[in-house]
Amino acid sequence: MANGFEAKLNEYAHLLVEVGLNLQPGQTPRLAAPVECAPLARLCVEAALDRGARDVVVEWTDDVVTRQRYLKADQEVFSQFPDYQKAKFDWLLERGAPALSITGGDPEALRGVDPARIQAWQRASAQPTKPYYDAMSANRFQWTIGACPTRAWAEKVFPDKRGQAAIDALWEAVFSACRVTGDGGAPARWKAHIEATARRAKRLNDYDFQSLHYTNALGTDLTITLPEGHIWMGGADATPAGVGFVANMPTEELFTAPRWDGVDGRVYAALPLALNGNLVRDFYLDFRGGKIVDVHAQEGEEVLKHSIAMDEGSSYLGEVALVPYDSPIRNTGLLFYNTLFDENASCHLAFGSAYPNCVKGGEGMDEQAQKAAGLNQSLNHVDFMVGTRDLSIVGTTRQGERVTVFRDGNFTF
Ligand code: ZN
Ligand code: ZN
Repeated sequence: MANGFEAKLNEYAHLLVEVGLNLQPGQTPRLAAPVECAPLARLCVEAALDRGARDVVVEWTDDVVTRQRYLKADQEVFSQFPDYQKAKFDWLLERGAPALSITGGDPEALRGVDPARIQAWQRASAQPTKPYYDAMSANRFQWTIGACPTRAWAEKVFPDKRGQAAIDALWEAVFSACRVTGDGGAPARWKAHIEATARRAKRLNDYDFQSLHYTNALGTDLTITLPEGHIWMGGADATPAGVGFVANMPTEELFTAPRWDGVDGRVYAALPLALNGNLVRDFYLDFRGGKIVDVHAQEGEEVLKHSIAMDEGSSYLGEVALVPYDSPIRNTGLLFYNTLFDENASCHLAFGSAYPNCVKGGEGMDEQAQKAAGLNQSLNHVDFMVGTRDLSIVGTTRQGERVTVFRDGNFTF
């Protein structure tokens, strides 16, 4: 393998530990990674210890072993969460151990496994691990999700390449999407990127737009009303102690919630949508009073309609996200079949649930109050890309002032 690769892999490991996790001296991070990602995981361990970690708790995951167990292990195994596992989660939580998760396993590893076994395990593990994962989603400790190409994933992204050739190609794409060039400068580039994102978020929050109007040559002509007290979020998060971290690496989006009943017009998808193993292509959605009233797709229309009909909230929007067209991810020109990348490829919308913290005080509201505040509710949350090279977005403030937010696919500020 070329020297360039080793330098980039090392730079990426440092990026995950220093900027993603922002590991503090004396902390004991937990690192979860597929066994195939051992070279990256080892570099992350080294970077963490060099930065003053007290220790690193490594958890290897293995798609092959997981599959074998689901197929052949005793049925009872899946309905009992072992005490020693519960003790481990409690131990990590007590110490506020930062969590670094490397994704990239086989998207189809569990194909053909009895779903009842998977559901039994999900049920058995939900309660014992709830305190840990609740603390994580409340940002009580730093956490980061990164990615590492594996063969199964790489061959899905590059169907005309096999084995190592596909893995190498996907690594190059992951590196460029993550601003890793091999010069050691990725952490500094990321700090600048995070600062720029925070500046834009502040600007959008200061404008406090009443609505956004989207237009492009595909035929998009959509008006989205934003709730009172909406908050644009993105870039870095922080723990209660004020330690900043980046939960998703890469991240490009600034997002908030639309008013569920305030969307009107038509929006065209800019990229295919991977939905439950199917591809939906060349589609548009028509909205009236927030509700999706018509759907048309050149391919996969039934799959799309099925998802929109999943529950009441699925036919309303729950997220509006702004991503510059000239982003490192979109510039790779790839569909990654991985939300971490695809969700950050372009401006997107999501039908289904809204994030409660996108409205002031939203987290403390009950469901009725959230709905009154404009936040959509659903078991579904499906992101689809709408950002094109020529996308224009004009915001209207509550005082009636019009501000161009996007011109030719990119932020004007
Ligand atoms: Zn998003
Ligand atoms: Zn989303």
